[in-house]
Parts: sequence; structure tokens; C-alpha cells
Amino acid sequence: MYNQFDYGLGTNKSVIRELFTYGLEQAKKVGPDKVYDYSLGNPSIPAPAIVNKTAIDIINNEDPLKVHGYSSAPGFDDVREKVAKNLTERMGMTIKGSNLYFTCGAAPGLVSIFHALHANDDCKLLAIAPFFPEYRPFAEASGLKFDFVEADTKAFQINMAALEAKLDKNTQAVIINSPNNPSGVVFSEDTLKQLGEILTKKSKEFGHPIYLIADEPYRELVYGDVKVPWVPNFYKNTIVAYSWSKSLSLPGERIGYVCVPDCVEDGQAIFAAITGAARAIGHVCPPTLIQRVVAECCSTMPDLAAYDDNRQTLLNGLLKIGYECAKPDGAFYLFVKAPGGDANKFSEACKKYNLLVVPSDSFGVPGYFRLCYCVSKKTIVNSMEAFEKAFNEFK
Ligand code: PLP
Repeated sequence: MYNQFDYGLGTNKSVIRELFTYGLEQAKKVGPDKVYDYSLGNPSIPAPAIVNKTAIDIINNEDPLKVHGYSSAPGFDDVREKVAKNLTERMGMTIKGSNLYFTCGAAPGLVSIFHALHANDDCKLLAIAPFFPEYRPFAEASGLKFDFVEADTKAFQINMAALEAKLDKNTQAVIINSPNNPSGVVFSEDTLKQLGEILTKKSKEFGHPIYLIADEPYRELVYGDVKVPWVPNFYKNTIVAYSWSKSLSLPGERIGYVCVPDCVEDGQAIFAAITGAARAIGHVCPPTLIQRVVAECCSTMPDLAAYDDNRQTLLNGLLKIGYECAKPDGAFYLFVKAPGGDANKFSEACKKYNLLVVPSDSFGVPGYFRLCYCVSKKTIVNSMEAFEKAFNEFK
């Protein structure tokens, strides 16, 4: 029945945003240095100096009508060519400018892919838990049904048996995210090989390709000698969504791309559908200045020393207290077992100590909490007492 006052999207709150807002309010009461806010994934290292220099050079030296004007819908051709060349050199696969559709970060790229893959109302998107909670509203607003595969809570790779059981003829796409938000885990080559084999087998069985979407905003954020494999090398029907939000610390600039490599079945039709979907949602022509900047800076890698220091300080501190944690090889998150087993209860208890941790239910796994360690080192060191007190409450 038509109900003018049922504004459904307005009632679905983000737990993460609510915690963050709560933290800002608490900071006004007790002082910002007494609030240990691990809620939000906002980069805490500045963009590399070359990024600012490039932006300033472009502003000072190029035609302002071009710098601030519209680009073509998928991005400037020369920008697409430069980024494609860089990918070709790094990923062991030929990528052309025409394979790339530039977007305002990964989020609208994903929404455009989901819309493009919505062939009928039975089509389903399958995520692998733990997953980025926004996949659900993005998928549902695109007309896709959303479901997820239970987590592999031993290693936080992929629970292959659960995946195989969940795939059915209506599965249009599976989405993975590695390095992972919220676990910090990087999927191994072996995991991707097994995933590719299962998707190939099931695509044959159902008589249509099951597309794999690789959501990769954290690709460049890995520690030690860990490598992030290029997913299309393991399964040809892979569409990649990328963003410079985290790798170059540019989340406010809104820049990324969708890559549909030539090996994707019906790739040209899918690329055209993504173009049409982006247009339908009013998402064309991402910011032109920053397109030009990333074209010049796409080979620049972030200096991860500060994140790595935070990661080790936090991990070691927590392990010493007695917490258990997924192996954090990438991104800037730790995924920690909630003492007592109830993540919501634990997160609520932490608020007493002005410690803000995100309970895991919205990531599709109960009983854990996520810590985003792009905070100051001082916050980590000073928060250890709060972590200890919260732990002891549930002993
Ligand atoms: N995918 C994942 C897994 C994320 O964590 C995020 C942001 O935190 C996004 C996509 C969206 O990123 P962007 O800022 O590029 O839209």
C-alpha cells in the first residue's frame, strides 16, 4: 500500500556512522584525547607530497576550462590510457584504456556494476562474510537480492563448502574484498584458485557466467612481503572496482575506476551496461582535476610505515591482554574476537571507557569487533588500559 511516510532508506542506520557521531559528542564532554575512537576508516597518513604538487602544477599551468570542466563520461581518454598502462605493467595482464570506467571512488563503481548486472528480479549478489556492510544497501537499491556466505572463522579466507552450497542458478555475481574490510586479511593465491574453479564449475552447471566482483580499495595497503594477487588472472569473468581513497589517502576527492578486462564474457555489453547504469544513477564524469592527478601519480605507492607501526603496537598490546585476532596482513583494520562472545554487549561495555569499537554483526559474522587503526599512535598507547578494563569485565 502506498505510504507517503515510509521513507525506508532513512531508517536503516549505519552502526559505524552512529558510533563515530557518538564519539564526537563524547569528545565535547570529556576532551578528544580521552576518546579512543576506532570506528571509522578515514586515512590517517597524508597524501604523498607528489599528489599535492601535481594538483598545484595542473591548476597553475593548464587551461582552467579543461581543469574544471566536464570530462567524457568514463573519464579522460589519456587518463584512462595512463592508468591502463600502469596496470598492464603491474598485473601481468593487458589492460586498455577502454577497459576502464572512472568513478567517484569505489562505492559508485560498485553501485554501477550491481545495476548493470541486474537482469531480472531473481538475480542475486553473494558476498563472503565478513563483508563491507554497504554491499547490502547498494545491491538492494540496484534490484539485486543480497545474500552472503558464512565466514571461515579459522583463517578468514573463504569457506568454500559454504560457498558451493549457496551458489544457485540465480547467482549473478559474487563479490570479494581483499585486503579485507573488516578482517585485514589478504586472500591467498590458493584461495583465489579454488574460488575460480568453483565459479567455473557452477557457471557451466547453470549455463551462464557467474561474475566475480573484486572490490579492491585496499590493494596497495599490505605489510611485509605480502602480495595481493590480480583476481582476473585466477577467474576470467572478474570485474574490478578500485579507488584511490585509501592508497593515496584521497577519500574526499572521490576517485576510482571499474575495470572490465577483455577476458570477461560479454565484457563489452557489461561495460556498456555499467556506462548506462552510471548515467541512470546520475554518476558520470568524476572530478576532472583529480583524474589528471591520479594519472600522473598512479605509480606512487603509499608510505605505510605509520600504519604498520600502529598495526603492530595495537596487535601486540591486544594479544598481551589475551584478545584473539585475525591475521592482519593488509588494509588498516583488526578483527578481534569479542570477549564473552556477544559483540554488541562488548561494544556497549567499551563505551564506558570511551573506547569505540564496531560490533561485527553488520559484517555478517557475530561475535567479533572491528578496530580501525588509522588513528594516532598516542591514541593506541593510551587506549590500552581501556582495552584491559573491558576485557576483564568479560573474564
Ligand atoms: N569497499 C570497501 C571494502 C570499503 O571499505 C570502502 C570504504 O571504506 C569502499 C568500498 C568505498 O570506498 P570509496 O571511498 O572509494 O567509495
